[in-house]
Amino acid sequence: MKTKHMYKAYLKPGKEESLKRFHPWVFSGAIARIEGQPEEGDIIEVYTAQNEFIAKGHCQIGSIAIRVLSFRQDEKIDRDFWRRKLQAAYDMRRNLHIGGNPANDTYRLVHGEGDNLPGLVVDIYGRTAVMQAHSPGMHVDRMEIADALADVMGDTIDSIYYKSESTLPYKADLYPENGFLKGSNTDNVATEYGLKFHIDWLKGQKTGFFVDQRENRALLERYAHGRTILNMFCYTGGFSVYAMRGGARLVHSVDSSAKAIDLTNKNIALNFPDDTRHTAYAEDAFKYLDRMENGFYDLIVLDPPAFAKHRDALRNALQGYRKLNAKAFEKIKPGGLLFTFSCSQAVDKDHFRTAIFTAAATTGRNVRILHQLTQPADHPVNIYHPEGEYLKGLVLYVE
Ligand code: SAH
Repeated sequence: MKTKHMYKAYLKPGKEESLKRFHPWVFSGAIARIEGQPEEGDIIEVYTAQNEFIAKGHCQIGSIAIRVLSFRQDEKIDRDFWRRKLQAAYDMRRNLHIGGNPANDTYRLVHGEGDNLPGLVVDIYGRTAVMQAHSPGMHVDRMEIADALADVMGDTIDSIYYKSESTLPYKADLYPENGFLKGSNTDNVATEYGLKFHIDWLKGQKTGFFVDQRENRALLERYAHGRTILNMFCYTGGFSVYAMRGGARLVHSVDSSAKAIDLTNKNIALNFPDDTRHTAYAEDAFKYLDRMENGFYDLIVLDPPAFAKHRDALRNALQGYRKLNAKAFEKIKPGGLLFTFSCSQAVDKDHFRTAIFTAAATTGRNVRILHQLTQPADHPVNIYHPEGEYLKGLVLYVE
């Protein structure tokens, strides 16, 4: 095993301000010099220009150079550290009665900065935990974290699947391999509010499912009765399955990926076998919206992938949201409901609202905001890290 050196980063004068407010990132431009030659993922201590300790965390190459794990000098980053942090995340979910019962065993256990574990995501699907590293540091420490996770979860899970091939910066020569770190559970059916879903943690997007839309799917169920529903960008068909249970007259699911359409059909069949109210189409969103009949749907869900992965893509992203939503406003039946979302971190609430407002205005329809939606409690936002608020949604009544 490699011996652990203590590396030190010294900040430029005044660059400690955000750390004093417990913001968990150090940008490369704030660093004056580094003592030693840390490798990506090593633990590094951060000092002010006055040589005062201020934080410690994982270092990496890139604009975010250090992700803070602790603001205390005496706190060691070891298996016990991971156990304490994971326990705190677990306790919060238990405290809020999220997950952990047979009707609802799908939830996010660790939401990165929101759980004071920058760069780490853990989703629980029944008896399997899917762990994802978004930073080299979390990758380097994955075995220690998996051990701690097994301690905390005890016999409530029997497998830990690691899935970081597509989430780590490619610059880091880490070659993460997806695979089980513990156990080998192949039963991939998880339950959310009593509905069953096949979770494709082997090949699916993110950790296999969009856990973050749970409460928004449940809200849609309340409005589904008797409606003709379009679920655009359906992926696993989450919104569609809830719409079916809510008593929709008809549900159409659309996604450009044939795999997503297969998964949607499987999930519908799992919950509503032989129900003819549902049909899924593999087609591009814009093409489908162009050719669909005017006034056919009276509830439309638009939940596109992140249009802006970075700040510099913001303008194009906003234009994308405008165009997409304008098509829905144009064609939705009078008295219809539009559930519209953005999961781009770079697009904030005001940007998003302006894009939707502009889209509505181009069609001249009367539009009222009924609900303003966000991510659920198992995707908490660290109050010192407002960037963690990424999911935005509006439910609109279109006259
Ligand atoms: N609403 C889903 C998550 C959507 S993820 C849920 O609740 O789980 C975004 C989806 O959009 C992906 O499945 C992706 O395949 C699909 N997609 C991306 N570009 C598209 C396009 N141009 N037209 C249709 N679907 C698209």
